[in-house]
Amino acid sequence: MSDLARLLAYLVRVSGGSRRARLTFAGVIAAGIGSGLALAALIGAVNTLLAAGGAPSRALVATFLVLLVARPALRFLAHFLVLRITETGFVTLRMELCRRVVATPLRRLEELGRARLTAALATDVGQIVNAMVLLPTVLMHASVLAGFLAYLGWLFWPLLPPLLLLTAAGAVSIRWMIRRGMVRVAAGRQLYDRLFHQMRGVTEGTKELQVHQRRRGEFMARMEGTAREHRREMRLGDLWFGVMTASSELLFFLAVALVLLAGPHLVAVPPATLASFVVAILMMRGPLEALLDGTAVLGQATVAARKVEELTGSLAAPAPDVPLPAPRRWRSLELDGVTHSYRGEADERFVLGPLTLALSPGEMVFVVGGNGSGKTTFAKVLLGLYAPESGEIRLDGRAVEPAGMDAYRQHFSAVFSDFFLFESLMGVDAADLDGDARRYLSALHLQHKVRVSGGELSTVDLSQGQRKRLALLGAYLEDRHVCLFDEWAADQDPHFKEVFYRHLLPELRARGKTLVVISHDDQYYGVADRVVRLDYGQVTFDGSAAEYLDGGHAARPPAFAGAVAA
Ligand code: ADP
Repeated sequence: MSDLARLLAYLVRVSGGSRRARLTFAGVIAAGIGSGLALAALIGAVNTLLAAGGAPSRALVATFLVLLVARPALRFLAHFLVLRITETGFVTLRMELCRRVVATPLRRLEELGRARLTAALATDVGQIVNAMVLLPTVLMHASVLAGFLAYLGWLFWPLLPPLLLLTAAGAVSIRWMIRRGMVRVAAGRQLYDRLFHQMRGVTEGTKELQVHQRRRGEFMARMEGTAREHRREMRLGDLWFGVMTASSELLFFLAVALVLLAGPHLVAVPPATLASFVVAILMMRGPLEALLDGTAVLGQATVAARKVEELTGSLAAPAPDVPLPAPRRWRSLELDGVTHSYRGEADERFVLGPLTLALSPGEMVFVVGGNGSGKTTFAKVLLGLYAPESGEIRLDGRAVEPAGMDAYRQHFSAVFSDFFLFESLMGVDAADLDGDARRYLSALHLQHKVRVSGGELSTVDLSQGQRKRLALLGAYLEDRHVCLFDEWAADQDPHFKEVFYRHLLPELRARGKTLVVISHDDQYYGVADRVVRLDYGQVTFDGSAAEYLDGGHAARPPAFAGAVAA
């Protein structure tokens, strides 16, 4: 029962945790148990009415009538309360997970992997809510059974002890079988993470699979392997639950046989009492079956709850969302001996830095270097998305502490190469948001493709180059002090490259923005005020664009993907 108790405690916690939520939960449990006991008492009353042979006492009739109303009323109450809990629980649980995800350092999220997060949000949360819905029904059936046992004791107590012994043996073996089943379900759930990852391969890697028959064949075979393994584990889990139901039924009829065949030999029992006893036992079959079915679902929910708890533990606790002040203009931004490294095989560890460089307001810095030289990593460190492992970032001479990282990040607008486009223009202060957005859409040559109304974009379903231009719209509207573009121009045609480097960037600089532009377009390096070159995670050049070009750096072949020994 400890798993059920843990699940119960967990459900109480996720149903809001407030006093009101706890009370509602207690109400659900009380109403569920009450309606079960009322049903057992109702059936007992029917039996007694039958035995009274047409001349029942007034008290018996009154009890019968009260129970008649009490049972459906309590059942409805339990249902009503549970709907309230699930309504808040569903939202609370999902939002709590989402809040934790956005509060968690980016690096930890990258290590956890997207598939695990999505699987928990999409699948486990649903199963936990199913358990909440089922809870009053399970409690109700459990109390119907307890009520029946009490009734049987009242009917003829000498037959109760052997019956209780059989029930206890049943409970122990059922618990054992549930545990066996849950081990399989947990293994299946583990495989589901892998399956989920592979399913993303199908939806997001369709092109790559369509153009390569052998890759497609191998990928599909692997995915089928995982799907089969997953189903096998789930089937074995279900099989244990099936064995549990079958053996419970066996035990149940053994109880009937015990009473019917051995009972009269054990104690002297009047035939009418024996008949009522057996009828009452037979009536326990329905609630027993429903209880066992419910227990199997609760078992699966326990696995889902464990998974969510485990994930929650590796995510950060969200801080209260106190509105941050609008970022002030800054005078100096320095990176002092900053490093970041990716964990991996010891001799394949990539280390960025130690980097020491300063940015001044209003300058346009091009960050250049071959693929894998650490430019994107540098961008993430500069934006405070990766905390420096050593060294510090100083803004206006003051070190940015971990607690101040969120406020620090508000100085930046960024378009990364794996950017995400939101369909709404959110979090932008503008008197005429639609008007501003339309002006920028025209400047980005998107006015015929995208309309904007009430801060909503009509579409984000565009070519990659157009999507990137739309991402630029966000950066324009946010109007932050530093704009970072990671290989923004890579997907643009020559005409729009020209527009970007010769018009958009100088215009942003003229507006006082500091620009950090990661670029491979060496024909435009002359536009920059300054060039910072990275090779194997180290700054190998930091000076004016003219110096960089004079030194012939632009002609250098790109550095080979930078794997640096630790
Ligand atoms: P660039 O932007 O110059 O192409 P990156 O900063 O993306 O370079 O990558 C620098 C190095 O860090 C590469 O060797 C890359 O393999 C490694 N790297 C980048 N991102 C990760 C990551 N999420 N996990 C592990 N290694 C990474």
